[in-house]
Amino acid sequence: MEDKLDAIVVGAGPAGVSAARELATAGLATVVLERGAFPGSKNVWGGILYRTPTEALLPGFEAEAPLERPIIEQRYILLTDDAMLGATYRSQRFAAPPYNAYSVLRAEFDRWHATTAETAGAEVYPEFAVTDLLWEDGAVVGVTTGEPDGELFADCVVLADGANSLLAQRAGLHREWAPIEQALVAKELIALPAETIEDRFNLPAGLGTALEIFGESTWGLLGYGFIYTNKTTLSVGTGALLEDLITTGINVNDMLDRFKQHPAIAPLLDGGETVEYAAHLIPEGGYHRLPQLYADGVVVVGDAAGFVNPLNREGANLAMLSGKLAARAIIEAKAAGDYSAATLARYRELLDESIVLQDLYKIRNITDFAHARPHLLRDYPELVSDLARDYLTVDGLPKAEKQQKLVRRLRQVPKRRLLADAVGALRAMI
Ligand SMILES: Cc1cc2nc3c(=O)[nH]c(=O)nc-3n(C[C@H](O)[C@H](O)[C@H](O)COP(=O)(O)OP(=O)(O)OC[C@H]3O[C@@H](n4cnc5c(N)ncnc54)[C@H](O)[C@@H]3O)c2cc1C
Repeated sequence: MEDKLDAIVVGAGPAGVSAARELATAGLATVVLERGAFPGSKNVWGGILYRTPTEALLPGFEAEAPLERPIIEQRYILLTDDAMLGATYRSQRFAAPPYNAYSVLRAEFDRWHATTAETAGAEVYPEFAVTDLLWEDGAVVGVTTGEPDGELFADCVVLADGANSLLAQRAGLHREWAPIEQALVAKELIALPAETIEDRFNLPAGLGTALEIFGESTWGLLGYGFIYTNKTTLSVGTGALLEDLITTGINVNDMLDRFKQHPAIAPLLDGGETVEYAAHLIPEGGYHRLPQLYADGVVVVGDAAGFVNPLNREGANLAMLSGKLAARAIIEAKAAGDYSAATLARYRELLDESIVLQDLYKIRNITDFAHARPHLLRDYPELVSDLARDYLTVDGLPKAEKQQKLVRRLRQVPKRRLLADAVGALRAMI
């Protein structure tokens, strides 16, 4: 206890490092404990990092951070078993600085990101897996690695241990996430020469694209496949809500293999070598299922708290911002000399005022809306594909007859269902 720190941060992902940097900058004695061989060694994501929110937290990061390609376009694709159709938004504004987003590899980014906390004065220790919390009079007072000399004490512990936070459960902040509250994603990193990537995706040298692919990519389950272009690799993945994977008995590895073999996808990956494979959970419980975020001597941040916006593919930026806000609350607690839950409740206030909880509140009904309508990603891609094929096929039918045929096909969808889906979607989004 004589070596008591101001703060211990568990986990050197985006949330933990951001919290540690803020704490150390304010002069608090801060240690980050990371179970991996180095920060990022165990981390998985797509992943696209948005520039503006990152710049707000890490001014000038573009000059120093290991980034892959600026993302100049977004493609949304619907897949059926034999067809694909989609929409692309490519902008010259995204193709010149200031960029909107970058593709990023976590192993490199997190390693660099951790140095920003070290520069601010925090100490980052890899290969320290925290197994439990230490308690005194009902308050968290430290952590342990389970080794005889593995106990470390602090006024406040920041739990930034990611999607499956066993420590937040230990702290009584939340129960084990239910299968409907998390998605499981399998992802591969597939190596290809830079020029091949640029040719196949029609990209200017050095620039990148992001593809999100719905329907057949997940066997019609709620989720999506993705392909993001890095410098000399592609990030390729698919995933779905864990509950649906369990119910259908679909294995996410099989889902990824099937996705890679789809006739519209395979040519994009042809000749590539898989250099990395991983599967990872994403907390998707959303606003309605947020856990308790603080208790005496402890706060929970990032994925460990469930701060992911699956609709807009935002996790890392929310994680970083929540880390910063937690740090601010801890800095105020230090000034008050009081780390009780009543004082740390300030963290929740700061979150409520920020885009973290404002955005999660905005999309609070999306998952429930889509999950209750399994036909959305199963039947509608087929319908749209049928309509497109009929429209584009020149078969000698007079155009008026063709139009009637299309209308007849559309009428096969029960009007009530179409209306209910449209109204439900609007309600869930607005
Ligand atoms: C496949 C996939 C694709 C994604 N794509 C995107 C994307 O494109 N854009 C985006 O913004 N977000 C994306 N996300 C979400 C994003 O990765 C997360 O929201 C973000 O990483 C959360 O950061 P974090 O610091 O809270 O947790 P993590 O990044 O998970 O970091 C937790 C850290 O804690 C460490 N740790 C865990 N337990 C312990 C322990 N007991 N002791 C010590 N250390 C421990 C881990 O090793 C890890 O380093 C994606 C996620 C997945 C899985």
